[in-house]
Amino acid sequence: MPSDSSAPPLPEPLRVPVADSHTHLDMQDPSVEEALAAAASVGVTTVVQVGCDLERSRWAAETAAAHEAVHAAVALHPNEAPRLPGPELDEALAGIEKLAALPQVLAVGETGLDYFRTGEDGVAAQQRSFREHIAIAKRQDKALVIHDRDAHADVLRILDEEGAPERTVFHCYSGDAEMAELCAAKGYFMSFAGNVTFKNAQPLREALAVAPPELVLVETDAPFLTPMPYRGRPNAPYLVPVTLRAMAATKGMTEDALAGHVAANTARAFGYRAP
Ligand SMILES: [Zn+2]
Ligand SMILES: [Zn+2]
Repeated sequence: MPSDSSAPPLPEPLRVPVADSHTHLDMQDPSVEEALAAAASVGVTTVVQVGCDLERSRWAAETAAAHEAVHAAVALHPNEAPRLPGPELDEALAGIEKLAALPQVLAVGETGLDYFRTGEDGVAAQQRSFREHIAIAKRQDKALVIHDRDAHADVLRILDEEGAPERTVFHCYSGDAEMAELCAAKGYFMSFAGNVTFKNAQPLREALAVAPPELVLVETDAPFLTPMPYRGRPNAPYLVPVTLRAMAATKGMTEDALAGHVAANTARAFGYRAP
């Protein structure tokens, strides 16, 4: 069967508007204006644009300055940090801190640890970079957005050692129910992406089921992780309603009730006034 790479259709609009708490507009085909218009047409009225290196973080800040509906997060992605030799990493971190001070930049991230793509040799650089990003978030009083892939224990340990910022978001939450309880006890936000709809994602749905509604966010991580039944096709912020509806079913909540929580939570997590 040939794979279908066309854009999935627009879902039915949400009645209660929400934010896509984590997207990469710079990696998607449509223009920023097209992406925002499609999202707004289905009730996704706010997006957090996440930069993964210094240049793309600069782009995120510029895009947020130009669009009311866009807030920026800036960081060196955990897979980026090991590519930079020590002095270059320091220089890039200084650049990130300058961007983090801007008013339209609401978060430092995505930072954290990714043991899936990085071998033993990259771990030290990742951990150093993660600690520095935590410090920047605290100095600039911004939210911290965490990328945690196959590194749950070390991410939680380093957050404890450094002292987590007041507002900490686990993007594309990937832990189990036990970890969700740990995160809830610490007040960490858990942002669920399209993979929560995947057939093999039962442990993730169990985590979502126990996560307090006050700490749950939704995101696309677009262009990645397109929710079912569109897995494999390009993802975009306008597909948030597909994931949110599946999440509401998992939590045994109405779509409107969950959307109300998610809208308020995202505003609280990133520190903007709920639209
Ligand atoms: Zn990530
Ligand atoms: Zn991401």
